[in-house]
Amino acid sequence: MLMSLKEYEASFLEYVNKMLNIEEAIGVLYWDLRTGAPKNSFKQRSNVISQLSADVFKMSISDEMAHYLITMEEAVSAGKCSVEVEKTVNYLRKQYERNTKIPVEEFEAFVKCQAISESVWAEAKEENNFAKFEPYLTEIIGYKRKFVEYLGYTTCKYDTYLDEYEPGMTVQKLDEIFSAVRNKIVPLVKAISTSGKSFEKEEMKSFVSKQKQKEICELFLTTLGYNFDAGRLDPTAHPFATSLNLGDVRVTTKYHENNFEKALFSTIHECGHALYEQNISKDLECLPIAQGASLGIHESQSLLYEKVIGQSYEFWKCNFANLKEQLNGVLDNITLDEFYKVINNSKPSFIRIEADELTYPLHVMIRYEIEKDLLDGKIQVNELPSIWNKKMEEYLGIVPATDREGVLQDVHWSMGHFGYFPTYALGAMYAAQIKATMEKELPNYNELIETNDFQTVLDWLRVNIHQYGATKKPQEILKDVTGEELNVNYYIDYLETKYSSLYELEEVNKSI
Ligand code: ZN
Repeated sequence: MLMSLKEYEASFLEYVNKMLNIEEAIGVLYWDLRTGAPKNSFKQRSNVISQLSADVFKMSISDEMAHYLITMEEAVSAGKCSVEVEKTVNYLRKQYERNTKIPVEEFEAFVKCQAISESVWAEAKEENNFAKFEPYLTEIIGYKRKFVEYLGYTTCKYDTYLDEYEPGMTVQKLDEIFSAVRNKIVPLVKAISTSGKSFEKEEMKSFVSKQKQKEICELFLTTLGYNFDAGRLDPTAHPFATSLNLGDVRVTTKYHENNFEKALFSTIHECGHALYEQNISKDLECLPIAQGASLGIHESQSLLYEKVIGQSYEFWKCNFANLKEQLNGVLDNITLDEFYKVINNSKPSFIRIEADELTYPLHVMIRYEIEKDLLDGKIQVNELPSIWNKKMEEYLGIVPATDREGVLQDVHWSMGHFGYFPTYALGAMYAAQIKATMEKELPNYNELIETNDFQTVLDWLRVNIHQYGATKKPQEILKDVTGEELNVNYYIDYLETKYSSLYELEEVNKSI
């Protein structure tokens, strides 16, 4: 007997739900691996994770899935499904196409190559030996060049990989955006360097116990609206946030006993990611679209909280006295003005993940330009160390003494994750544009921040961004929220205003 459409849809959703349940299990195992699993469990735990991941992958390209998609697509075109189901079908179709275009044997060979390449990269970085990594990176790039032919592209090969992380973004748009940012930021960075000013303070390196830092991080998570009934905070080596389901969105941080600032701001960063996931509409529960719209939009939320709000003067006007009290004497000789300056100190540096807000996008651009040229075959892997150093000199005015601090610093390329880096910079640009809209729509925006009224801020973000999960494309969200597509002038204005004032660069600002 044939099933009714209603029964068929229920069966489809049950299948999708099974996939999500396995993904949740993977998420818990992964979280455990990175937050407390004993060292001797790592190998077996990794085996379990990769077996379960392979199971979900197989389900995403099975004949069963193919049938479900065809029938459900017919139902969607006949207008017989809810928007949530329609978006789920579209999401799974895209995943199906991507996962089936590459021949299975080649993909499996690539996955093996990724694992070896990543471990060789770690050794090469440790030994500062680019030559050791070179053949593996060459092989990885060979796969990426080959796969893009299977996946297809219209004008730029790189667009295909960009789209995986930031749907709808293209090289054409990014080239334009990045060149506008570069033209404004490079002179600003140079002006700050030549000003010779540094806001660094020894007190920021004072000892603060891990327990005390944990209490401070929990306090700020609560202040910002993080829901501890739907999450928790744990220590880890490389901080991350993970959404297991809408009622369980966890954050992690790393405590440095002589640098409380790191844990504090990395916690606020992960809080921004978590607030996004905690506030996705319950209507999307148990659907694969119950997640952020893209990496860029996700990053816009973490950077909005960490940098735009968390490193603003208004925020500390209200919270500095409290932090001082918590830190029990550590900051007694620092004023609010000094604290605001020290947390926004800007200085060209070699390591991307330690870079400040102003110099950060330049690190991303270097990687973006290199990735594009590698994919197009315009440059070869053996040229990377010299190209890297040349670009560092040109954009940041400094050259790393070793490849460990240069071209070998990030893990992404060893895994073939091309197209990922730009989303970090896009997040910062989206955040500036979203903030400008918030200021218009919440006329007392500054007052809200100054009085820790984060419920109003969070409500606005939930209504305008969070609730939609991945039902909208990144550019659609931006357009609906701000009334225009990505307009990089908001970001440039934000950085110029903030840093010209911090470094008292009025004259320089006028000339650029
Ligand atoms: Zn992030």
